[in-house]
Amino acid sequence: MSAPSLPFLPYALPEIGEEEIAEVVDTLRSGWITTGPKTQRFERDFAAYLGGVGGEGLHAIAVNSATAGLHLALEALGIGPGDEVITTTHTFTATAEVVRYLGADVKLVDIDPATLNIDPQAVAAAIGPRTKAIVPVHYAGLAADMPALLDLARRHGLKVVEDAAHALPSTSRGALVGTLGSDATVFSFYANKTITTGEGGMLVTRDAALAARAKVMRLHGMSRDAFDRFTAQVPSWYYEIVAPGFKYNLTDIAAALGLHQLRRADDFQRRRARIAALYDEGFAGLPVITAPAAPAGEKHAWHIHALRLAPGAPVDRNTFIERLYTRGIGCSVHYIPLHLHPYWRDRYGLVPGMYPQSQAAYERLVSLPIYTRMSDGDVARVIEAVRAVLAGA
Ligand SMILES: *Cc1c(COP(=O)(O)O)cnc(C)c1O
Repeated sequence: MSAPSLPFLPYALPEIGEEEIAEVVDTLRSGWITTGPKTQRFERDFAAYLGGVGGEGLHAIAVNSATAGLHLALEALGIGPGDEVITTTHTFTATAEVVRYLGADVKLVDIDPATLNIDPQAVAAAIGPRTKAIVPVHYAGLAADMPALLDLARRHGLKVVEDAAHALPSTSRGALVGTLGSDATVFSFYANKTITTGEGGMLVTRDAALAARAKVMRLHGMSRDAFDRFTAQVPSWYYEIVAPGFKYNLTDIAAALGLHQLRRADDFQRRRARIAALYDEGFAGLPVITAPAAPAGEKHAWHIHALRLAPGAPVDRNTFIERLYTRGIGCSVHYIPLHLHPYWRDRYGLVPGMYPQSQAAYERLVSLPIYTRMSDGDVARVIEAVRAVLAGA
């Protein structure tokens, strides 16, 4: 691979403004650097963002990663050994690994090639006597078919935990992901996600019992509630350990970033949607399958711009990515499907033929840069490079 031309346009960059920086500095000077007042404010603001003022009964629980949030949600729902959880093979391993943390089994299913989201028909076919939950992923920021999945869950008595790591803000039938009626929804604030706290996540639920359990398990299984029942005054030093919990709390340093990132979430989304529109126009006539779009009137968070090379393309996916790199443009691939990774393949005896849609998509997929710090010039440069490479140049 020859050296890229400069300046290199990376695949992703966070957008951190002066307000975020000032808020972090304020936190550092305040003396309260771990979970405290800013984390509480971030939780309140997040619930209000999704559910309006007061959050309409939404509990938002800040955690140090989406992986932690998914683990806490499934733990609170009682998923354990002997249980099976259905999810998509076309995701990041975090979606599925948390099921294994709990000693339960993962049942991977294929995607709908039109959306690259989990296929409800494949889910229906995979439901068995051990099935306890479905974990859909809103791939790239396009909402999965939640009406169909929630209906399946209702009919079979299954729990639903949404992996919304890509989906802030995304809508389904006009409602924001996080308010769609599943048991819990988990967002990610990892460095390259649509808003970031460096590392972080948010578990959102309307289920008060789930929220209470997740809060206890987020911090070592520590509770002050037992004491509350017997006396009005809990000494500040008193707590009880009610379970072997985890260390999943978000710091106030991270929450300081989140407070301002959240305020910018809608502007960020508009900018990414604009870049997606420019890409669609710019790629007209090329041998590509354009990135799946949201239905009219729905919001797509556009965390990922997933382009597929069409069968008539003059280069294969790997060569395409190499040529773009040579032209100074960073790309990625989302995802190497779970069924191809040694752990998942060997654990469940999986072969590519079991997932024809995910497999076919994977072989042609490339994720192009799509982030708010890209200028119109940067976008034009990507379009020009893609056109040149696909012209065989
Ligand atoms: C990023 C991501 C996660 C994990 O998020 P963390 O905050 O890094 O734990 C989970 N699922 C999907 C689909 C992701 O893209």
